[in-house]
Amino acid sequence: MNYRHTYHAGSFTDAFKHIALIALIQSLLHKDTPFCYLETHAGIGSYDLLSVTAQKTKEFEMGVKKIFTATNPPALIQDYLSCIKKLNPDEALRHYPGSPYFAQHFMRPDDRAVLSELHPDDAHTLKRFFARDKQISVHAQDGYQSLVAFLPPKERRGLVLIDPPYEKPDELMSLPRILAQTIKRWDTGIYAVWFPIKNRLQIDRFYRELKTKISRPMLFSELCIYPEDVAQQLNGCGMVIINPPWQLDLRLKEILPWLWKTLSVDKQGHFRVE
Ligand code: SAM
Repeated sequence: MNYRHTYHAGSFTDAFKHIALIALIQSLLHKDTPFCYLETHAGIGSYDLLSVTAQKTKEFEMGVKKIFTATNPPALIQDYLSCIKKLNPDEALRHYPGSPYFAQHFMRPDDRAVLSELHPDDAHTLKRFFARDKQISVHAQDGYQSLVAFLPPKERRGLVLIDPPYEKPDELMSLPRILAQTIKRWDTGIYAVWFPIKNRLQIDRFYRELKTKISRPMLFSELCIYPEDVAQQLNGCGMVIINPPWQLDLRLKEILPWLWKTLSVDKQGHFRVE
């Protein structure tokens, strides 16, 4: 396990993922009944953008910093920014929230979050970060095992975020099978899977495999800030959402043009919602 998210916190891929996450959580708030948020690869909850690691890559400058300084962002982006501002009360952008922090921000008193993080140091940091929050449980365990251990949740409604580091070369292509098995146990849950886009052929193969193995409704969403023919580079990222909430496609279609315009490099790349 070499991957450390602190190098990538606040990158354009984090911004895309966390904005989509907020749209998903907000859709769960439409009903009064409690929901469960399960995250398989949770990270540490908050990232210092002045740390040596974040400063080494400065990936946040291509992501959250551009959004933080933009004028008149759409409503969903303003919700994203208000979470970030809560963590940075003195107005300057120093700390970037991790996905569990965005989820926590919107949770109501009866909602619950279950977080898995395998890296021992990161799991320890995450436990400390949420130590005072009784609605959040942190487990130092493999995220894929947590799908077996914690699903279906007692609430019978909720969201699963799967955000792996993709350190293993076959990890992306193993997901359709893992998702198909998980859906057999809980077929009405919302599942959101983030993935990097480096190679179109591989992504198309991933989509085909999902469509073959899973018969639930699916939404495919992408944001690329570079053209896709730049080999060996992170050109963009995507999210597949299984059992997408009503009108999520419309909300993403509304904000992605703004996000692409704000984040793309020389207006290269593309956005997509299908
Ligand atoms: N979701 C986080 C966020 O958006 O703030 C970032 C997560 S980062 C992309 C991936 C995390 O997964 C890392 O913190 C890494 O230590 C952890 N990890 C790696 N393999 C894992 C596994 N098998 N199970 C759970 N966590 C794992």
